[in-house]
Amino acid sequence: MLSKVIDQANVDRFERWLGKAENIVIVTHVSPDGDAIGSSLGLAHFLESQDKNVHVIVPNGFPDFLRWMNGVQQILRYDKHQDEADCLIAGADVICCVDFNCLKRIDAMAKPVGESSARKVLIDHHLDPESFCQITISHPHIASASELVFRLICRLGYFEDITMECAECIYTGMMTDTGGFTYNSNNPEIYYIISQLLSKGIDKDQIYRNVFHTYSEGRLRLMGHVLSHMHVYPDFRSALITLTKKEQNRFNYVRGDSEGFVNLPLQMKNVVFSVFLREDTEKDMIKVSLRSTGDFPCNQVASEFFGGGGHLNASGGEVYGSMDEALQLFKEALVKFQPLLLKK
Ligand code: 5GP
Ligand code: MN
Repeated sequence: MLSKVIDQANVDRFERWLGKAENIVIVTHVSPDGDAIGSSLGLAHFLESQDKNVHVIVPNGFPDFLRWMNGVQQILRYDKHQDEADCLIAGADVICCVDFNCLKRIDAMAKPVGESSARKVLIDHHLDPESFCQITISHPHIASASELVFRLICRLGYFEDITMECAECIYTGMMTDTGGFTYNSNNPEIYYIISQLLSKGIDKDQIYRNVFHTYSEGRLRLMGHVLSHMHVYPDFRSALITLTKKEQNRFNYVRGDSEGFVNLPLQMKNVVFSVFLREDTEKDMIKVSLRSTGDFPCNQVASEFFGGGGHLNASGGEVYGSMDEALQLFKEALVKFQPLLLKK
């Protein structure tokens, strides 16, 4: 049995909305990851099983290793089909906002979603959600938005309607947001949910391979390159990896090729904080990814130094400047946070 994480009042209210809704739009954050796509598609499969007209709209592209998921072909990219997406957003009865906590995280979609007269529900696990939805299902202690989608479907009383395809999407999000159940994954109920998903016929070993073992040669060689240029700061128990546009061109970089790189330095003993700085190919900025182990709050570093945020152990931000400027900020952050970095 699962504990009742989601407030009954929110479940009831969402149920009432569903009874009346015909057109439902699901939106998720920019540069969608496994949990963003998994929770969106998982929810879409469920809503379709309830005969709703459902559209998943994402701000921009997502990595190829998520393309095997059922329903992925129907996902609409806002950056490519803005007019069509604007129509769907304006005409929706309900908009489900999954895996993000503030409108800024959906980029250019913030305006049409914010202005739409649709009822909005937030299903998310990031800290400090903004109040832009009438129903806010926000549970930062839950490891993935996909897990919340599963919990919501069950609380509505529709476990029976979860198909194998729906279960695959939910499992994928749970798996990717916990690094294959290696962090944020000590809640025993996670494993109860996995057993329930397995009962739907998913092949979890195959899903692991689909997501984590489908590297291109370029990605593997790029990984070798960034690791061989990694900087380690023993006095700060930290490590840094970087990737410039020039290096991306050299290794035929495609979006998603550096996904997960930021986790690699944490495999070193005595490294509790890892930073990855990547020159963005589209916008003139440096994308910052931060990871930590234990109590070190990389979300504090993200908000204080990189205009971002996120979770205690996984967060990110952006620097609108050069790589040198980003490196300077990184070094300032190390100095400021040294006491916390060295805390045992
Ligand atoms: P990643 O390093 O995988 O891009 O992001 C990890 C986590 O950090 C995300 O799930 C999200 O919570 C947070 N995050 C990443 N980039 C940003 C950003 O630019 N702003 C904010 N507020 N959070 C971010
Ligand atoms: Mn997530």
